[in-house]
Amino acid sequence: MSLVTTKEMFKVALQKGFAIPAFNIDDLNGLKAIIKGCEELKSPVIIAVTGGSLKFIGKGFVKGIVDLATKNTTIPVALHLDHGKSVELCKECVDLGFTSVMIDASAYDFKENIRQTREVVEYAHKRGVVVESELGAIAGVEDDLMVDDKYGRFTHPLEAKEFVEKTGIDSLAIAIGTAHGAYKFKPDQKPELRFDILDEIHSLLPDTPLVLHGASSVPDESVELLNEYGGKMEKTKGIPLPMLKEATRRGICKINVASDLRIAYTGAFRKALAQKPEVFDYKVFIEKAMDAITERVKFEIINIMGSNGHADDFK
Ligand code: 13P
Repeated sequence: MSLVTTKEMFKVALQKGFAIPAFNIDDLNGLKAIIKGCEELKSPVIIAVTGGSLKFIGKGFVKGIVDLATKNTTIPVALHLDHGKSVELCKECVDLGFTSVMIDASAYDFKENIRQTREVVEYAHKRGVVVESELGAIAGVEDDLMVDDKYGRFTHPLEAKEFVEKTGIDSLAIAIGTAHGAYKFKPDQKPELRFDILDEIHSLLPDTPLVLHGASSVPDESVELLNEYGGKMEKTKGIPLPMLKEATRRGICKINVASDLRIAYTGAFRKALAQKPEVFDYKVFIEKAMDAITERVKFEIINIMGSNGHADDFK
């Protein structure tokens, strides 16, 4: 199946009450492992690429590898720029053939966020590309993106409505207590998401697809495995699975996951390295790491997004 726009995906997800998974890629191996998991479960998927990963993979390669990896799939796949930090980068990704871009001007004030978002919407919509924007800052670390905690503020429902109306965006990333990266909550902290805010936003904007960033659940067993084989991750807590499911039930229709896949990959890679010290053919380690991503992808699709089987809705 060729690339589709996220607009089509959101329409079905909103109607049927599931979330489209947006999994971040950092290379071809991650991409193939994700597609494999989604294909096995017949789930639509958004392949998300940050500015940092775009640089790492190589701007000229991204569209090509995604086209090749999805050429023989039967599932709908969208290619999305995650956290585009400038209008120029968003326009560049539109020109590169992405089907969706996110402009993240959330660090600017409300007026400037609207101005930049509007500019990207005008450019992207003329070319059939879908736009996501963020209001309220989601705390934490995402790749080369740093959001200082002092800006970590929740999305104001009335501002959200005004923002959507003034920008014409297709989907809105909201801040309700999630955070990017592995360290979301301290081990002794009780994770909390502001479902009251989500409900208010969803009731004011019932037809706007709402997006949850920073949604990795950071399972203890993944962190333990990584540490067992020489890693040094601190103890931490992610977003509990029931909360993610609840968010989907209350109107979230795209869930972003990067850290869970990176932790799974690195843990499996470290284990394979430690168990086969005589091996120098790194394909052996990468294969194990890819399998770990595929397993994690399948687990999250079944236990969080509920998107399994929904590829068939697009036939
Ligand atoms: P995590 O770091 O929780 O996986 O979040 C990723 C994300 O939101 C990408 O935009």
